[in-house]
Amino acid sequence: AADSADAVLLGLDPEQREVATTLRGPVCVLAGAGTGKTRAITHRIAYGVRSGQLMPASVLAVTFTNRAAGEMRGRLRTLGAGGVQARTFHSAALRQLQYFWPKAVGGEVPRLVERKIQLVAEAGARCRIRLDRSELRDVTGEIEWAKVTQTVPADYPAAALKAGRETPRDLAETAQIYGTYEQLKRDRGMIDFEDVLLLTVGILQDRRDIAEQIRTQYQHFVVDEYQDVSPLQQRLLELWLGDRDSLCVVGDASQTIYSFTGATPDHLLSFRTRYPQATVVKLIRDYRSTPQVVHLANGLLNQAKGRAAEHRLELVSQREPGPAPVYAEYPDEPAEAEGVAGRIRDLIAAGVPAGEIAVLYRINAQSEVYEQALADAGVPYQLRGAERFFERAEVQKGLLALRGAARSAGSGNDPLLDGVVELGSQVRAVLSSTGWSTEPPAGSGAVRDQWESLAALVRLAEDFARARPGATLADLTIELEERKAAQHAPTVQGVTLASLHAAKGLEWDAVFLVGLTDGMMPITYAKTDEQVEEERRLLYVGVTRARLHLTLSWGLSRAPGGRASRRPSRFLNGLRPGSAAPGAREGAAAERGVRKRGRRGPVLCRVCGKTLTEAGELKLMRCEDCPSDMDEGLYERLREWRATQSQEQGLPAYCVFT
Ligand code: ATP
Ligand code: MG
Repeated sequence: AADSADAVLLGLDPEQREVATTLRGPVCVLAGAGTGKTRAITHRIAYGVRSGQLMPASVLAVTFTNRAAGEMRGRLRTLGAGGVQARTFHSAALRQLQYFWPKAVGGEVPRLVERKIQLVAEAGARCRIRLDRSELRDVTGEIEWAKVTQTVPADYPAAALKAGRETPRDLAETAQIYGTYEQLKRDRGMIDFEDVLLLTVGILQDRRDIAEQIRTQYQHFVVDEYQDVSPLQQRLLELWLGDRDSLCVVGDASQTIYSFTGATPDHLLSFRTRYPQATVVKLIRDYRSTPQVVHLANGLLNQAKGRAAEHRLELVSQREPGPAPVYAEYPDEPAEAEGVAGRIRDLIAAGVPAGEIAVLYRINAQSEVYEQALADAGVPYQLRGAERFFERAEVQKGLLALRGAARSAGSGNDPLLDGVVELGSQVRAVLSSTGWSTEPPAGSGAVRDQWESLAALVRLAEDFARARPGATLADLTIELEERKAAQHAPTVQGVTLASLHAAKGLEWDAVFLVGLTDGMMPITYAKTDEQVEEERRLLYVGVTRARLHLTLSWGLSRAPGGRASRRPSRFLNGLRPGSAAPGAREGAAAERGVRKRGRRGPVLCRVCGKTLTEAGELKLMRCEDCPSDMDEGLYERLREWRATQSQEQGLPAYCVFT
């Protein structure tokens, strides 16, 4: 066993090896992008399991996205450590909720809202507020933000204003839709994504017996991307741990990109204070990117300011030199998209697989012009993160058809469905019967996107048939159900179109960072210094996704023939050839920002709401009297909120939403 376990340590550098072999006590890895943090923790789990020191079922690994969780499970299996739970906070919480709900509350867990946007649309309609597609998405985002920051509808307008949220609608209107959405959900006995964490925390807090049960099952915890843990997630982690300390966290303060949802790197940065006996490991070798990409990433880090910047970790590339990053300026947005699509076509022609290319943008609304341009160029693409794959209407419809077909298979009535010949053609035939065409539709947009989803389902069937010769359609539907339960979406084959936020933790051979104008990066609504710094970190995350080819582009106007009113992102000043170093202009902009803030009214403490006057307080947006660890304040409010909600509803204290 020792020899076979040692094999897992091959392919790790000495520091990573230290992480992998320190299986007792708290461990914290602070390291920049691409230094192999995720790899180190994956190998750590595998080493522990194979050396017999960790029971697979006693380990819970928490990752940031379902896609990352799926990738980790796959690697663990390859490393001989299958059976370890690798999940997101949400999916781990949901599983536990399902498990202890009958005992804690009785009955079954309320159904999950599957199509939240639709429910929000319904709520909008009830309030007689018309929302177009993008407004709908934005209002949904606001509701999510409100919930993870534990803001009830009545408090939303004030809280949104205080947090400097750029809201798509009138604040009162958004609050009204939010309230109606919660009501609709309750009326139908449903819970949403955010409720899952709130309820799990509530139950574990109130029920010692259930908390003990969870603690008996899970003894060891590993958390990836710990810099973006929200107070609610941190609380859940503490409840899981109890008074034990078998916790390994890895993160990079320079990649904190979710503070707008209440996440904070404080837990990562104060790990040693909380656990003085912790093993702290730093990694600096960057295995992902070429020296050229790493040089740009370091340049961005050197311009960063604020708390996270004090903890920056200079990267040292381990790779051979590659091409220099390309900076491309276009007269307008469509020209930029066309130019990018052309470059992508060239890369594919030169042998780069489409699945190894990504186009990353700041906001989802930017995707449309790239969908169009890629479709025009005949390049396959995959929109959105892989996360919600099984929640898409067309995929659900496809699964339903496949289940139906699997039941009637073997009846001898349909030669295509009987036998085990070739699952790809069977699946194509079943999907065709639901109106799906085997050829991609012309053009782009939603229709093309739906077609791609089902094409991905066919590819999944083909992969499955290859991996399991002799498998039947019934076997396939079981596999799909399991993947659905685990939210394990099929691998992306086309060019990935994703927001920078969704790209976290991932990597591609070629990355296109598009729309890098001042106003989009940083985004106009990033007003405070803190918000601007988060934008800069987002760009750092984007740059560090690239292994080899990196292209940074922008258009000087929105539409063809428009006034060239846009400027390239100020974050590229001093880095982009021919640009002046940051200084005069940025200083002036900062001053304008301060004056503007003065006009916008006082800055309030984001914990207690008191007006702030001290420079230090203004910077942190938190008064001296409030705890630096926001956890407490937020939890106090959560407790109060739960109490009032349960009083109003006449429900047990932890049962807020049903
Ligand atoms: P991020 O901060 O972006 O999440 P990370 O620190 O988690 O990055 P990984 O994704 O684990 O980095 O690793 C980056 C890339 O480098 C991966 O392709 C990984 O396989 C490779 N890599 C990591 N460590 C080594 C190593 N010791 N030898 C060779 N390749 C490595
Ligand atoms: Mg990682």
